Amino acid sequence: MCGIVGVAAKREVGNILLEGWRRLEYRGYDSAGLAILNSAGNLDRLRRLGKVQSLNEAYKEKPLEGSLGIAHTRWATHGKPSEKNAHPHQSGGTAIVHNGIIENNQVLKAELQEIGYQFLSDTDSEVIVHLIDSHLKEGISLVEAVRKSVKRLDGAYAIAVISADSPDRIVAARSGCPLVLGKGIGENFVASDVLALQAVTDRFIFLEEGDLVELTSD
Ligand code: GLU
Repeated sequence: MCGIVGVAAKREVGNILLEGWRRLEYRGYDSAGLAILNSAGNLDRLRRLGKVQSLNEAYKEKPLEGSLGIAHTRWATHGKPSEKNAHPHQSGGTAIVHNGIIENNQVLKAELQEIGYQFLSDTDSEVIVHLIDSHLKEGISLVEAVRKSVKRLDGAYAIAVISADSPDRIVAARSGCPLVLGKGIGENFVASDVLALQAVTDRFIFLEEGDLVELTSD
């Protein structure tokens, strides 16, 4: 299980996510990625196999702009280390990062394929983002779509979700994997551990088992 960082701010979040990654490297990982919601309301995503350094270089060549983003370092449990298996995973305008293992991923995958979802990775995590998208299509809010989705998950997870549907917020949830919120001024953070956020805040809220949070810059 590896690392998650998410930032909801009023300024560019790219460099905050890069610094968060650097601080998560000690946990070990095989690939890394990030997704940022740009000012036009679309998701931009960058993923790389291997060291955060190669992702850093790719990012410097083509920085992603926006004030809402999530990032991930992956330690593969389902599906080999590769770019297509790296997180964030995306469905429509929604992206997620996941730490942990979804035990019932095959059952959920079959259900989602039945209603037309195509899977682009070999991970257990991809079911989560399609589940959320399927609930968003019912016309409910992002937080309610995530709440409904996590009820279907067996296994361990910490997740952070962003969506073009709700461009000002991150929804995060945990069960069996750690997650901490960092409080800033006009910006707020979520991460797997406090080390990832120590450059940006010293005020933390540790989430408890089963917690689900909605996080905006305020
Ligand atoms: N089970 C997921 C995967 O293999 C998440 C792994 C992790 O926690 O990094 O992609």
